[in-house]
Amino acid sequence: MSDLIRGRFAPSPSGYLHIGNLLSSLLAWLDVRSQGGRMLFRMEDLDPARSKPAYIAALGEDLRWLGLDWDEGWPDPSCAQSARTAAYDAAFSALQRRGLVYPCYCSRHERMAASAPHPGEAADSGCRCAELSEAERAERERAGRRPSWKLRVPDLDVTVDDGHFGPVTQNLRRDGGDFIIRRSDGVYAYQLAVSVDDMEMGVTRVVRGRDLLSSAPRQKWLIETLGGKAPVYCHAPLVVSGGGKLSKRVGSLSTELLRARYSPGELCGKLARLCGLRESDAPLSPAALIPDFSWQKIPTADILFDETAF
Ligand code: GLU
Repeated sequence: MSDLIRGRFAPSPSGYLHIGNLLSSLLAWLDVRSQGGRMLFRMEDLDPARSKPAYIAALGEDLRWLGLDWDEGWPDPSCAQSARTAAYDAAFSALQRRGLVYPCYCSRHERMAASAPHPGEAADSGCRCAELSEAERAERERAGRRPSWKLRVPDLDVTVDDGHFGPVTQNLRRDGGDFIIRRSDGVYAYQLAVSVDDMEMGVTRVVRGRDLLSSAPRQKWLIETLGGKAPVYCHAPLVVSGGGKLSKRVGSLSTELLRARYSPGELCGKLARLCGLRESDAPLSPAALIPDFSWQKIPTADILFDETAF
């Protein structure tokens, strides 16, 4: 097994996995195992209000059921984001010392930073908080407003050479803008936590859904600003139904339903056909897909998923 290749599962326990999450997990696993690398499982239970014990228990169980495994992490609690506040504190202080952090008093921006961004969510359109004088800040504090904390990004083009989508360039200021790294209740935001974790856990391959492709340039920049080496990002196509992107939040075809309907081999066969790795959906194990796994067989366009034909 190669220590040089390290991938990860990083699910959030805010729902059961759905068919799109399962496909990204399968591809993350195949990407790493086909290169003889190590896999770790990080529980992204950052937001106490949305993390539920039932989902925490189900996530690993469901991946194992499908035939996926990992070498480190869950159920080791030290790998859960809820246990890593000290690491986020240290990164936050380092950014603060460099003058890159400022308080933001806009509650709408805070709500948007609570979890990984989803397509169709309006971008943070920026605010005046970066330019507030000390007196204006004090006035807001006196009025009882507790700020969240934003990271000031430079006017810089950052290119991520995505392993599947190719080069993606973003101007940090123009295309994304300053972003929240800590909420007013002290909970760290997704962008900070995921960057610190990937860096400190030595992750070299990040495979996840294409909805997070637009976050990759700022994560790469954040990791490099903290003195780390960014992983290779490799985004997987989204699975969409007629109604749009599937979402855990609305309970699209979840593992609960899928497990009642299919054996692990049957489901894996269906996933393999759905993403172009096989021409038929004959049952097979994830391990059977390792020898001829190639990203070239997988589309970049969204995969239309017809629930009735599945
Ligand atoms: N925990 C995030 C989610 O489930 C994914 C984070 C990532 O892969 O960067 O949406």
